[in-house]
Amino acid sequence: MSDKKLTGLQRKIRVGVLALQGDFAEHMNALQRADSEIETSAVRYAEQISGELAIDALVIPGGESTAIARLVDDGNDPLFAAIKSRAQSGMPVYGTCMGSIFLAREIEGSKQGRLALMDIAVKRNAFGAQRRSFEIDLPVAELGAEAFPAVFIRAPIITSCGPAVTVMATIAEGIVMARQDNLLISAFHPEIVDDSRVHAYFIDMVRSALTAAGSVRSSEALPFTGAGALSPAPYH
Ligand code: GLN
Repeated sequence: MSDKKLTGLQRKIRVGVLALQGDFAEHMNALQRADSEIETSAVRYAEQISGELAIDALVIPGGESTAIARLVDDGNDPLFAAIKSRAQSGMPVYGTCMGSIFLAREIEGSKQGRLALMDIAVKRNAFGAQRRSFEIDLPVAELGAEAFPAVFIRAPIITSCGPAVTVMATIAEGIVMARQDNLLISAFHPEIVDDSRVHAYFIDMVRSALTAAGSVRSSEALPFTGAGALSPAPYH
């Protein structure tokens, strides 16, 4: 079924990928693989966040958080102000690895610039020099019975979450995937594997947000049993 039918929009769903730093091209490809009906764009300017052709959702890729932090440090950047304000009014945002650090309220031992939108504390480079990069089969109930091939690259770990956060996946070292309403994060990199389920889950979140925003007449609304049906379970 097309996006138009699902959301009542007269145009395609637009998902932007922040393209200042990191592996944004891989995310654009992964989003297209998950759903060829959506439109993807590389986001670099505030006008793409709040202008007439504004995106419906944003992915913040993996990369190096200290590099992106420098861009926000003065607190006056129009691009980050626009992202923050749209996210606070419900725009779905998905942060992978660096993106999860950038969304976190707290970064252990660091005051580096961040959006501080999500009630999580993270520890950067949590796996140390010995395990800079590794892949595991990660059970994620919301993605179905089959484990997800999760690739970690100099990854952070989520060390604690506030009550509004739903934990979606954990490993021995801590939390690696979580959601707070319209915000989704993973410490791993689904954009570099063939399995599209995490991107499909995020696109479902986007559809639910557009539907909830009133793009669909109630007679057209479909029952959402996927991402939109998730209710927060407190975790501390
Ligand atoms: N170690 C990086 C940081 O702290 C994140 C790595 C990644 O995004 N793959 O920003």
